[in-house]
Amino acid sequence: MILKNAKIVLEDKIIDNGWLEIEGDKIISINEGTTDKEGKDLKNKIIMPGFIECHVHGGYGVDFETGTVEGYEKFAKMIAQEGVTRYCQASVTNSQENNVKYLQAFKTFMENQKEGSAVCLGAHLEGPFISPERKGAHELSLLKKPNEKDMQELIDLSGDNVRVLTYANDLQDGTFTKFLLDNNIIPSMGHSPTSYADAERDYKIGAKHCTHLFNAMSGVSQHEPGLAVLALVKDDFLAEVISDAIHIQKPVLEMIYKIKGPKGICIITDAMNAKGLADGKYKLGNLAVEKKGMKVVLEGTNTLAGAGATYDNNVREYYNLIKMDLTELSWMTSTNIAKQMNIYNETGSIAVNKKADLAILDDKLNVEMTIANGKIAFEK
Ligand SMILES: [Zn+2]
Repeated sequence: MILKNAKIVLEDKIIDNGWLEIEGDKIISINEGTTDKEGKDLKNKIIMPGFIECHVHGGYGVDFETGTVEGYEKFAKMIAQEGVTRYCQASVTNSQENNVKYLQAFKTFMENQKEGSAVCLGAHLEGPFISPERKGAHELSLLKKPNEKDMQELIDLSGDNVRVLTYANDLQDGTFTKFLLDNNIIPSMGHSPTSYADAERDYKIGAKHCTHLFNAMSGVSQHEPGLAVLALVKDDFLAEVISDAIHIQKPVLEMIYKIKGPKGICIITDAMNAKGLADGKYKLGNLAVEKKGMKVVLEGTNTLAGAGATYDNNVREYYNLIKMDLTELSWMTSTNIAKQMNIYNETGSIAVNKKADLAILDDKLNVEMTIANGKIAFEK
């Protein structure tokens, strides 16, 4: 497949008018100028690396807790319309009985992923190892202290498909952090009132990721700096940012960008199952919630309960606020998290011999087409 007359966003520069060639699942050439060869004329549209979303619970009526292979497959297909080519399916805190059920179905899904959909990289387990003090919408009675025995069970049930774990680092002494790293799982600190000192201890062991910066964590206090401060000041620390301008207001998104720079941020949605559906009443676990536009609140209140924005929406929000270079934007959507997840050698940027994971966008960054592993997964 040839894509021509496109603006191509590479990792270090933009080709204003170029074409690229895909063979099988790979990009085999990237060129400046135009070509007479037959191909899709993109009429100056933008090609960015496919978006990689490491924290999404669901959308289109599906979430991890739907717990069926068909549900997971539907989600992988639907999320491609957001420009997403790879993602981690996030869970909430469940009973062990339910975890067994969901993870078994998830394992089956992971072993037989379909072509022409976004690729699921594995699970991002958010809970049960989080703090009662910063539990958000998670169920108090199901929370547990981080421990290797229960974690090993979850890893085994998933068929070794846990890629990220959100945990309260203050409820362990560093051994659990090391256990995660030894199992190739990204330790993502969050849902925690941790002190800066405790967070720094785990950072030094290798925890360099946090779950939705500023939400459900200890923050910025001049006397008691918390996890948010660590995330902001450590240059080799990657912060998940829900850039919907709802979970984090615009001046704070601007502050994060100014301190972290585009190499320290990965855009996420944290979206729940009502994403992509009409406004109305839905369930978040056992909670009755209401979706109003991109916002999801507890029914009859203004209390946020999960996120309802799509990935491309959050990309546009951050871009329209900062107007950063598109190369820099692509680090925030794809490159940084690909490096963090150790998949950068095959995806996360547009380069010869990498997987053809591409998001094709108009000049307002609306998604026109998504290509995952060389196959069209979405076309408007
Ligand atoms: Zn979440």
